[in-house]
Parts: sequence; C-alpha cells; structure tokens
Amino acid sequence: MRRFSGDRLLVATHNAGKLEEISELLAPYGVSAIGAKEMKLPEPAETETTFVGNARIKAHAAAKATGLPALADDSGIEVDCLDGAPGVYTADWAETPQGRDFVMAMDRTWAACEARSAPLPRKARFRATLVLAWPDGHDEVFEGRVEGQLVWPMRGAQGHGYDPMFQPDGETRTFAEMSAEEKNRISHRANAFASFVQIFEV
Ligand code: IMP
Repeated sequence: MRRFSGDRLLVATHNAGKLEEISELLAPYGVSAIGAKEMKLPEPAETETTFVGNARIKAHAAAKATGLPALADDSGIEVDCLDGAPGVYTADWAETPQGRDFVMAMDRTWAACEARSAPLPRKARFRATLVLAWPDGHDEVFEGRVEGQLVWPMRGAQGHGYDPMFQPDGETRTFAEMSAEEKNRISHRANAFASFVQIFEV
C-alpha cells in the first residue's frame, strides 16, 4: 500500500459536516484537511453505479485539478429486499424541488419494502468507501460497513439521513437514538476510517 507522508490532505467534499469529521480524524496524525470549497473545486457528476466508482471520480478529479493527494468518500444504505436499493442513489431518493427530505426518503424506502411484502427483519447495511488518489493516477481504497435492519416507525431525533430507521445488529436502538460518540464507535464510516489510518503508519 502506498503511504501518505504530507501534512496537508485535500478532502474532496463540499459537505462541511464531512470535512469537520475528517479533520478530527486526521488531527492526531499531524495532518490538516483542506476542503474542496476552499480550493474552489467544481463538483464532478457521480455517474458510476458503485460507491468505489463514485468515490474514485471525486478523488481523482480533485487530485488532478490541484496536484495534491485527495481523499473522497461515498456512502449509502443497501436494503436486501430491495436488491440493494437505494445504494448509490441513497441521497437521490431524498431529492425534492425544495431540497433533500429524508423523512420522505425513509417513507419511500419502507413503502417499497411493503410493496414487495418483504418478510421481517428487513436486513440492511450502511456502507462507506474512502478513496485516496494521487495526481499520478494511483489510488488506495478503504471500505467500511455496518449490518442491521430497517425498523418502522422511525425512531430517534439524533444523527442525520436514514438514521431513524436503521437499527444495527446487536442493538435495540436506532442510530438516531444514539449519541454521536456511540454511533461513531460502530458506524460504517468509523470502520472505513479505522482502515484508512494505516496510510499514515510507517
Ligand atoms: P454521499 O456519501 O454524500 O453521496 O451521501 C450518501 C447518503 O447516504 C447521504 O445523503 C445520507 O442520506 C446517507 N447516509 C450516509 N451515511 C449515513 C449515516 O451515517 N446515517 C444516515 N444516513 C447516511
């Protein structure tokens, strides 16, 4: 695996929450994060049909545009009885003319399971893929996931996105009923990050 030895890492996201989360992860390694907005990078279209494909598009576009190694992530939820949907289209299922509406997206997801009369439990997983790309075209890929089931009605007010309808295996609460610290100990993103930090070790 190619290691990263710099002290500044470009993070190819326009999402302030993601940038903050990644900055906190990088800090103990003496690495600071620079956001895509700060570098005035355009947002490339996510035209691939896999998490790794879309993360690669974002990471390579940013690395080529700046000449710096760039980190990108892509994530979403896969529902078994929906053949893995919404998957890479997780955010798209929440789109409305007024912006993203995740209550509507969760309603739509449960309704799709009902329409198939899918048996309980309705198994699902969150997945996160991180790609670190270098300007010479090399990249390294890191994956994380958390297995669980969909619950209905949705429960909890913390977190974001589909958290209120996702109960991880071995838990009685949804992600939205957990504190950020609890969720971050077991989440897909935490698992992907745990694997990613190998990049700093000598
Ligand atoms: P992207 O990675 O920015 O393309 O967004 C993926 C979408 O997946 C987000 O908009 C969220 O709806 C959903 N998602 C990803 N991670 C989580 C999570 O930890 N909780 C809830 N929803 C998530």
